[in-house]
Amino acid sequence: MRRIAVINQKGGVGKTTTTVNLSAALAAAGNRVCVLDLDPQAHATTHLGVEPNGSSPSVYDVLVGNKSIADVRRQISDNLSLIPSDINLAAAEVELAGVVGREVILREALAADTGSADYLLMDCGPSLGVLTLNALAAADEVFIPLQPHFFALHGLSKLLETTALVSKRINPGLTVSGVVVCLFDATKLANEVLGDLKSFLDRSRGANVPWADARVFDTRIRRNIKLAECPSFGKPIFQYAPNCPGAIDYAALANEVAGRVVVEPESAPAVASEP
Ligand code: ADP
Ligand code: MG
Repeated sequence: MRRIAVINQKGGVGKTTTTVNLSAALAAAGNRVCVLDLDPQAHATTHLGVEPNGSSPSVYDVLVGNKSIADVRRQISDNLSLIPSDINLAAAEVELAGVVGREVILREALAADTGSADYLLMDCGPSLGVLTLNALAAADEVFIPLQPHFFALHGLSKLLETTALVSKRINPGLTVSGVVVCLFDATKLANEVLGDLKSFLDRSRGANVPWADARVFDTRIRRNIKLAECPSFGKPIFQYAPNCPGAIDYAALANEVAGRVVVEPESAPAVASEP
């Protein structure tokens, strides 16, 4: 199983959209996928059509209440399951404050789980607090969604520093595998920011840091209004607008993530090219 934490402490960069639609694309390709919602705002939960009502079992009960993963996991479709969040999770930070080993509760719960999946995607909230640390401790890989504008790289060093600390102290195998460019418009500024990002990553090659092999995924997720509309219908993009650019881009990203990059001349525009 590939355990992937989708992290960026900036809000509104495409974490939830990427978690849900990449998961749905991987599931449609025949993989068994589990989405774990670690954001108290529960947007991934809602996006998958589950109402976060605060009284159904959620990941809060795993972190604070000793419930097992199996107790809270729900089947969404054939290959897709969800470990939902709800607003109770907002209190977890405070409730776990005095708990020894609070960063590894999720990792231990996942280790005890007998269910199997090919992918676990963890959608994190906009902070580097205890919930995100639980995701980093439980993950093999980190994906960083990023919106390429002027401030995009400012928060990145703090995020990478956190992955380095987690890797050093609690999860030596942690790897930052890629940056997913989201909300992409082919502007001069976006391309400059991506150029800066790539040269930063190139300078880290061979260094003893979790992002030494990180790449910017070739597939860029273009800005597409259908992606913004579909959460309110409680469906991934493939069930809402299967032929829109957003669906094409997330299907291409899933191929790339799974290591099957097929770029045919006709479908090449799905991977947005340099202007
Ligand atoms: P985060 O989880 O990082 O806060 P979201 O995935 O919720 O970010 O995205 C922020 C907002 O932008 C949401 O309203 C979402 O529907 C919208 N959005 C995300 N990706 C795209 C895109 N490629 N095109 C258009 N809107 C998008
Ligand atoms: Mg989100």
